[in-house]
Amino acid sequence: MTLLQTMQFLSIPGQAKEKKQLVTQVDQDRIPHAQILLGRPGSPKLALALAYACYILCLDKKNGDSCGVCKSCLKSMQFKHPDLHFAFPVISKEGKKREETTSQDFLDKWRSAITDNPYMDIQSWSQYIGAEKSQPNINTRECNDMIKQLGMRSFESPYKLQIIWLPEYLGKEGNRLLKMIEEPTDNTFIILIAENQERILNTVISRCQITKVSPVSDDHAIDYITARHPNIDSDILAQAVQMSDGDLHKAMSISLGSSVDYSDLLLSWMRLSYKRDFSELNDWITLLNSKGREDIKHFIEYAMSFMREYAFFLQTNDVSRLSVSQQSTAQNMTKIMDMIKVESVAKLLQESLRDIMRNINPRICLMAKSIELGDILRSKDQVKSLYNV
Ligand SMILES: [Zn+2]
Repeated sequence: MTLLQTMQFLSIPGQAKEKKQLVTQVDQDRIPHAQILLGRPGSPKLALALAYACYILCLDKKNGDSCGVCKSCLKSMQFKHPDLHFAFPVISKEGKKREETTSQDFLDKWRSAITDNPYMDIQSWSQYIGAEKSQPNINTRECNDMIKQLGMRSFESPYKLQIIWLPEYLGKEGNRLLKMIEEPTDNTFIILIAENQERILNTVISRCQITKVSPVSDDHAIDYITARHPNIDSDILAQAVQMSDGDLHKAMSISLGSSVDYSDLLLSWMRLSYKRDFSELNDWITLLNSKGREDIKHFIEYAMSFMREYAFFLQTNDVSRLSVSQQSTAQNMTKIMDMIKVESVAKLLQESLRDIMRNINPRICLMAKSIELGDILRSKDQVKSLYNV
């Protein structure tokens, strides 16, 4: 992905409504002083904010997008425009106290992380800055620096822009920003990129205009990933997209990180559990376990998403949401699996996922769940509750 692409509306899959709204604000000179772009993890809210900022600062706007070549765009695209400021959750920098560390200390990492992937989530950012052990946040120093910075004159553009990624991590420090959000200096625009409205102070929310950002549609996600990774296996990509439910970051990390065909794995799991073939089941578990905990988690998530689609197919007979290989699996499954069983299997999968996330030994968990799965699939009339025994 080139720098140019990440900073233009053009690079963002779908989102026609959101793009139009943001562009119109700029074109009609009605940019809100404080705005929240609110969307689920993996939705293009940060990408939209970056394109929006680049567009506001661009000196030669064309057809509802930044030109990508003017002096200002060249700086925006490297995230080095002196009037475009970023604040985001960080931890203490090596050799520095936490209360003295701010986003400035992680700016190079931030630039390369968002160049690679403006859809990243807090987990991947935390890993990127080595924050596995401590929870990143936005601290007092950061808030004071923002207030100071935005109180000064702009450098090159008539505008000053402050992007705050994940204001959820401000906690009560958000109170420090109220005055700045309510009465910003002239031509100052504050853009908050948020995922969870409930974790932001009401006093902050009430002072901002909220723009909801939709998740990425499956077709757009497939186009986006294929354009960047033309050699990707189309079945694996389709599975990853289906189980990611509009989270582009997740769809990318699963499809690029995995060589596992979950559809085949699921089919053999059901077949072996049904047959109660413990020797083959043991081989199957060994195979899945060798992929690592993350892939086991993804496999269970895939199975959950498949069950949702299968239930939809059972009720409507509509196969359009299933891939070609899933369609034949689904047709075969109707012989042994009705809605009652689907619900039991869905519950079993939820419990399996919870166990895996709790670091319970995957072999033990998978074997126990395979036996339960076999019982559900073989039960004739009504499925008795296996879980209350
Ligand atoms: Zn430009």
